Amino acid sequence: MSETWSVEEHLDDILRSVRPLEPIELQLLEAQGCVLVEDVVVPASLPPFDNSSMDGYAVRTADVEGASEEFPAVLTVIGDVAAGSGELPAVERGQAARIMTGAALPPGAEAVVPVEWTDGGRGGGPADSMTARSIDPGGASGEVRVHRPVADGQHVRPRGSDVRTGAVALSAGTVLGPPQVGLLAAIGRGTVTVRPRPRVVVVSTGSELVQPGEQLGPGQIFDSNSFVLTSAAREAGAIAYRVGAVADDADTLRSTIEDQLIRADILVTSGGVSVGAYDVVKEVLSQLDGGGSVEFRRLAMQPGKPQGFGLIGPDRTPVIALPGNPVSAYVSFELFVRPAVRALMGRASVRRETVRARLETEEALTSPDGKRQFLRGSYVPPAVGESLGSVRTVGGAGSHLIAALAQANVLIDIPEKTTRAIPGEEVAVVLLD
Ligand code: AMP
Ligand code: MG
Repeated sequence: MSETWSVEEHLDDILRSVRPLEPIELQLLEAQGCVLVEDVVVPASLPPFDNSSMDGYAVRTADVEGASEEFPAVLTVIGDVAAGSGELPAVERGQAARIMTGAALPPGAEAVVPVEWTDGGRGGGPADSMTARSIDPGGASGEVRVHRPVADGQHVRPRGSDVRTGAVALSAGTVLGPPQVGLLAAIGRGTVTVRPRPRVVVVSTGSELVQPGEQLGPGQIFDSNSFVLTSAAREAGAIAYRVGAVADDADTLRSTIEDQLIRADILVTSGGVSVGAYDVVKEVLSQLDGGGSVEFRRLAMQPGKPQGFGLIGPDRTPVIALPGNPVSAYVSFELFVRPAVRALMGRASVRRETVRARLETEEALTSPDGKRQFLRGSYVPPAVGESLGSVRTVGGAGSHLIAALAQANVLIDIPEKTTRAIPGEEVAVVLLD
């Protein structure tokens, strides 16, 4: 317990113990944001048939060769092909079929003349080129005058031009965002095999805590950590369950944790991990009847020195015990819980992006020797043509400063050995969004 761990050592210990969740089959929309574990092969070409990219007339190219406004090609309209039409009229020489966008190219036709290049089947002379020409509802029969030639295949989307049968549409490891979900739907997949979202259970502890919306008594404060941690877990991709604050009573906490383990892929606690008289999380999790235990450590970091991690219960569920100070709890979540959630999801990159930024403070920053400090910062990305953005601090180093935290979009990461950072210097910032 006297040993001090670095941030990286603690994180490595957590990541070593966390395995990606077993894949399951999910409905497409349930799988959004999840990592695919199968190579998805295209069962049938997309588009499944040659189809028109315009509203117009399906024709044989030879029939409209040399057509002009002055000398239009006059074709007999033999019928209509709408998107979804199953029966297709054969287009013979001298004929055209009226066709809508997405409709299958009928047999015999080689190209589509857009309706704007025709008289729209109204008959008569060349239409005024300034007026919008739409397809005349009555144009499914009679004649159409075509004013311009088309090349073979023009305005036709060939079968398989998007993706062909047997091709790998999405490979294992792909994160399913909206376009990927769309592609799966387009090739007819109703379900996919992915790693599920981890279920994160958040338990805050403290006899001083009151649920927001209720009345505060003397010495009480609202429980904010469980809200921060639950929403941060959701943002990280988890399904998060917020358990109301538990009083600093060992038996209550023990039974709450036992009850909650059943629905947790990872359990996160806040508070009760230091050396105070009522630090029950430490008391309860250090010694568990159900098996496993949580190791409590001092980290060389600020904020967030006291931390706990272990595997507990019959399923050896990972538990990450975070300190109670609101800034410490949030920073610790970002550094340790978020990567664990991402690892459970099977994500390749589990860490937040870090960039360099120019420090734009009035005064030098000081940081304790031997501690990695994470200050809340407001970061402005590089202007056009610049390579570095700038960052200033918001609020001080105090780990109770919730309002300043709400203004921050980065954590300024000051290395253990650095004790001073001067204005204009380059610093590392962890991007929070
Ligand atoms: P602890 O780690 O339990 O000693 O808590 C450290 C500080 O954080 C104390 O001032 C607590 O009142 C405060 N704190 C603990 N848990 C919460 C919480 N869930 N929401 C807001 N503040 C908290
Ligand atoms: Mg407490």
